[in-house]
Amino acid sequence: MRFDYSKEDEEFRREVRQFFREHAPADISRKWRVGAHPPARDDIRRWQRILYERGWGAPHWPVEHGGTGWSALRKHIFMEELYNADAMDYGWQSTQMVAPVIIAFGSDWQRERFLGPILRGDEFWCQGFSEPNAGSDLAGLKTTAVLDGDEYIINGQKIWTSDATIADWGFFLVKTDTTVKPQRGISFLLVKMDTPGITVRPIVSIEGGKGLNEVFLENVRVPKAHLVGEAGMGWTYAKYLLEKERTASAFLYFNKRELQRAKDIAAQELVDGVRLIDTPAFARKVADIEADLMALEWSVLRILAEEKSERNLDAVVSALKISGSEMQQRVTQLQMDALGPRVMRFDDHGEGHGDLVVDESWPDYVGGRTSGYLIARASTIYGGAREVQKNIIAKLAFGL
Ligand SMILES: Cc1cc2nc3c(=O)[nH]c(=O)nc-3n(C[C@H](O)[C@H](O)[C@H](O)COP(=O)(O)OP(=O)(O)OC[C@H]3O[C@@H](n4cnc5c(N)ncnc54)[C@H](O)[C@@H]3O)c2cc1C
Repeated sequence: MRFDYSKEDEEFRREVRQFFREHAPADISRKWRVGAHPPARDDIRRWQRILYERGWGAPHWPVEHGGTGWSALRKHIFMEELYNADAMDYGWQSTQMVAPVIIAFGSDWQRERFLGPILRGDEFWCQGFSEPNAGSDLAGLKTTAVLDGDEYIINGQKIWTSDATIADWGFFLVKTDTTVKPQRGISFLLVKMDTPGITVRPIVSIEGGKGLNEVFLENVRVPKAHLVGEAGMGWTYAKYLLEKERTASAFLYFNKRELQRAKDIAAQELVDGVRLIDTPAFARKVADIEADLMALEWSVLRILAEEKSERNLDAVVSALKISGSEMQQRVTQLQMDALGPRVMRFDDHGEGHGDLVVDESWPDYVGGRTSGYLIARASTIYGGAREVQKNIIAKLAFGL
């Protein structure tokens, strides 16, 4: 496969780079770089609004709903530059998860009501799928929604719901029929997070972040008009949502950015007067990761080149998820190796901001690295655990 950027693509890259340089708010980028999690609601809104005003609020949406109509390659360039600029990449539960489902399966009223506020950054969403006994096996979920006149009444509990404390809305998988096969009885409901009966309880994660939550739902009344598509089809919509961004699971842009950051750190750290990056042991580690990351990038580009193909790529996407999530752990480990004993100085200052505030005498690049390393341990779990991805590969690629 040959792969070249055209002159127009290079020009596009310059335009995007300049835009981020001039318009990405420095305060938000700094917090994003050091991994403050979850980001402040106002920061998410402010940055989404800026992107929206430039016409780039949701590049991958269909043009008629406010998308850009860019080729897959341009979206790739956009994401590379977004990460190179340390500009915030957040709000994907809204723009990349729930919105494509509403566009594909929602009612006209839902498209009218929900897409504009997402695009403008006025409303932000969380994803309520996992439950205490239903994570990898979502068919086992127990939260129910019973129709009562024009409303559903929801009872149950969700867990690991990222950003539930700052989200305006949540998209929930609920059981609307317990008499049919598990997958057939699941529906996809849009729920306002301040509806009476919803209690959100944060779970503090290892790096001190307060982005994860338990969500309790007790007699929560939701208008029937908030059901997406047909009752009982939630499983199909959820699969569509998870398949929509086939290459996102590779975390390519994060991995490239963080590898570069590890190299930048190692170029400034000295060992006996020698730059760490020039020492053979460290250079070998970098080379190992760099080669694998290059392979990951080419795999992503090959999938992007098949943008319009109907070929079933599920096994490939699972392979990308495995390598991409392991790569997150490797690049953040490399940063730890580069920083040495300073990674032990980890203090979340009770703010859920990881190591946002570090020793003032240390270089700025120390900030956020330890919390980034710690939260990356979760990358092989969320979005489909590694073992489950291996099962998919075994079945689809090898027929086992
Ligand atoms: C940081 C983070 C953010 C998250 N954000 C969200 C969110 O916003 N919304 C949401 O709904 N969920 C979210 N989740 C939940 C996530 O989707 C689940 O953790 C994930 O699907 C795994 O489910 P589980 O935790 O129930 O583990 P389980 O499914 O109980 O798995 C436990 C272990 O068993 C293994 N296992 C499970 N089934 C099999 C099998 N068939 N064969 C072999 N091994 C198996 C798994 O690989 C894992 O190692 C988040 C999780 C994390 C860690």
